[in-house]
Amino acid sequence: MNNHQIDISVIVPLYNEEESLPELAQWIERVMAENHFTYEIIFVNDGSTDRSWTVIEELAEKNPAIHGISFRRNYGKSPALNTGFSAAQGRVVITMDADLQDSPDEIPELYRMITEEGYDLVSGWKQKRYDPLSKTIPTKLFNATARKVSGIHNLHDFNCGLKAYRCEVVKHIEVYGDMHRYIPYLAKNAGFNKIGEKVVHHQARKYGTTKFGLDRFVNGYLDLMTLWFTSKFGAKPMHFFGLLGSLMFFIGLISTMVVGFGKLWRMKQGLPYSLVADSPYFYLALTMMLLGSQFFLAGFIGEIIARNSTRRNDYEINARL
Ligand code: UDP
Ligand code: MG
Repeated sequence: MNNHQIDISVIVPLYNEEESLPELAQWIERVMAENHFTYEIIFVNDGSTDRSWTVIEELAEKNPAIHGISFRRNYGKSPALNTGFSAAQGRVVITMDADLQDSPDEIPELYRMITEEGYDLVSGWKQKRYDPLSKTIPTKLFNATARKVSGIHNLHDFNCGLKAYRCEVVKHIEVYGDMHRYIPYLAKNAGFNKIGEKVVHHQARKYGTTKFGLDRFVNGYLDLMTLWFTSKFGAKPMHFFGLLGSLMFFIGLISTMVVGFGKLWRMKQGLPYSLVADSPYFYLALTMMLLGSQFFLAGFIGEIIARNSTRRNDYEINARL
């Protein structure tokens, strides 16, 4: 199991954080030295337009454990993390933000939880946050929704930048788009169930400014819906659209028949009757039938797309005899 050359890989995604980097590197180096860890630090420069990359080059010159990867343009935090994950070699992989909001002093305990308590993933929880109110309140809502949808009920803070992973986990998940907010959910979907949490210290941003605006909450919500849908129905879209479509179509059909036969019956009885098209129920019923067929078609198209996916039979296998 332990064929890793080094104990810890620290991955730091960064975008325009030149002022923070030297301090962060020094702090990590100090913690590693005090605890006698072998380590590497991988700075992933996400297309910074300031001097960040030059600073990283200087740091790497002084310490061979420091590595850097630089994107030509800004892709986002998730692509930066994903690239860092591919490069990581340590037994335990730790991610942290570059802005000094996360404390490297948490590393030894996170490492212990992964290696000794057997966690697959440990997420930091900024129980006491030093962020503006406009961010902390929506964050509470965001986390409550994420807990409900993902079924990971013990996490308070999905999007904490400070997380620790067993190396295997990061090699088996793909973080894309803005999905870094839901890494625990991605891990769970890949079959890694032992997900824990550790209360971590949080500090106000010392240098620079936040890179995410309030649109993070809208996008975060949409991404959660996407993840929920793809994890449940990604391989069998018809089970979702087919059920919904059939149900709507059926209700529409019954309602049309009630309206139609109702009129025929009244005609037969010699009662006064009106045109089917005069009834508002007729139009509601028609709409239901139309929408129902559309859902059904969406299901078929989804199935055809899923069938063409080269990854439709990629499963997470963790043991063979
Ligand atoms: N970041 C990045 N690419 C981006 C935006 C952010 O690599 O496009 C990095 C950023 O430099 C920081 C981390 O992601 O190290 C978290 O960003 P930030 O501190 O701005 O987020 P907040 O703490 O406000 O949630
Ligand atoms: Mg920050």
